[in-house]
Amino acid sequence: MNIHEYQGKELLRKYGVAVPNGKVAYSVDEAVKAAEELGTDISVVKAQIHAGGRGKAGGVKVAKSLDEVRTYADEILGKVLVTHQTGPEGKEVKRLLIEEGCDIQNEYYVGIVVDRATSRITMMASEEGGTEIEEVAAETPEKIFKEIIDPVTGLMPYQARRLAFNINIPKEMLKEAVKFMMGLYKVFEEKDCSIAEINPLVTTGDGSVMALDAKLNFDSNALFRQKDIVEFRDLDEEDPKEIEASKYDLSYISLDGNIGCMVNGAGLAMATMDIIKHYHGDPANFLDVGGGATAEKVTEAFKIILSDQNVKGIYVNIFGGIMKCDIIADGVVAATKEVGLEIPLVVRLEGTNVELGKKILKESGLNITAADSMADGAQKIVSLVKA
Ligand code: ADP
Ligand code: MG
Repeated sequence: MNIHEYQGKELLRKYGVAVPNGKVAYSVDEAVKAAEELGTDISVVKAQIHAGGRGKAGGVKVAKSLDEVRTYADEILGKVLVTHQTGPEGKEVKRLLIEEGCDIQNEYYVGIVVDRATSRITMMASEEGGTEIEEVAAETPEKIFKEIIDPVTGLMPYQARRLAFNINIPKEMLKEAVKFMMGLYKVFEEKDCSIAEINPLVTTGDGSVMALDAKLNFDSNALFRQKDIVEFRDLDEEDPKEIEASKYDLSYISLDGNIGCMVNGAGLAMATMDIIKHYHGDPANFLDVGGGATAEKVTEAFKIILSDQNVKGIYVNIFGGIMKCDIIADGVVAATKEVGLEIPLVVRLEGTNVELGKKILKESGLNITAADSMADGAQKIVSLVKA
C-alpha cells in the first residue's frame, strides 16, 4: 500500500526523523491559510499524488509570498499531473502539501528495500540525490553504497556511519545523518514497510539533515497489524475496479490489454496471461478468484471484468480442485444475466464437477465458446477478439 508524502512525513516525525514543517491542504484557501500559519518567508507548494517525478512535471513550486502560494495552489490543484511514474493518463491532484522552504546545501539519496537476493533489508545511499536513482544505478552504479542489515541486530550505528561517510556528508553533520538513518530504519521495521525512499535527503544551511521527500510503501500482508497505516489509505489514488475487488477478497490487478481473464490460483493466472501473450493477445487483468470462491464472489469478479471498457473478450480458465466447476458456471451465468454479455466468452473448465459445470453453461443459452485445453482457449479468445 502506498501513502502520500505528507502522511509519510507525519510518520517520520513521530520517529524523530527530521522533516520540514508542513500542512496538508484540500483547497486554495486552505493552502494560503496553511502558509500563513507556517509563517515562513518561503513556502513550497507540493502536489500530493501517489507518484514521484512531480518536480519535473510542475507539481512542486517555491512561493515567496502568500500571493504566490495562492497562484501556485490554484494552478496545481485539480491539475492532471503526468510524471514518469503516473503513465500517460496522469493523476489528478486533490491534495497539496504546503511546506516550509528549506535552505538546501546538498541533496542526497537514502532508500531502504527488502533485497530478495540476500533476503535482507538493505539500506542504500548516494551522493547523487534529487535525480532519478534508476539513472544513477544504470550510469554510475559505483555511486550507490549499500549496507545489508542483519535482522537480529537491526541497522548498526557503524553501518549508518559508513554510509554517511561514503556519500560525503560533511563531517560536522555525520552524527545527525546517522540519527536520521537509524530512525528511518526503525520506521521501516516497525511499520512493515516494503520501500522507504528519501530523495532528496538534504543538508541545510543551519547544519541539519532532513527528508525533503518521503516515499513509503507498506506490505499489504501486514496491514492487519498496522491499523494506523490503513487510516492513511487514499481510495482516490487507487483503481476503482481494484477497490471493488478487494471488498470481495479477490486478487485483481488491472492491466492495459483487452482480454479479461478469470482464473483460479495465482500460478494458473500467471500462466494464463503468458499463454495469451504467446498467441499475440493482451490480458486486461490478472484475476485470481481464489480456492474456495462462492458463486457470489465469482459473480462479482465477472462484473468487475465486464465493467472495464477496454475488455473486448473474456477467457475463463478454471481448474476445479477445491473450487468446483459448477460454482464457476453458476457465477458466470448469474453475472451475465445481471449485466448482459455482448462480447465473446471462451471457457475452459477442468477438474471437480466439470461435467455439471459444462451442462450449466450449455443450458444457459449464453453464447459461449468451449475450449478443450488451456492453449486452445487462449488461441480461441485471441482470434475472437481480433475478428
Ligand atoms: P519529486 O521527487 O516528486 O519530484 P520532491 O519532493 O523530491 O518531489 O521535490 C522535488 C525537488 O523540489 C527537490 O529535489 C527539492 O530540490 C525541491 N524541494 C522539495 N521540497 C522542498 C522544500 N520544502 N524546500 C525547498 N525545496 C524543496
Ligand atoms: Mg523526490
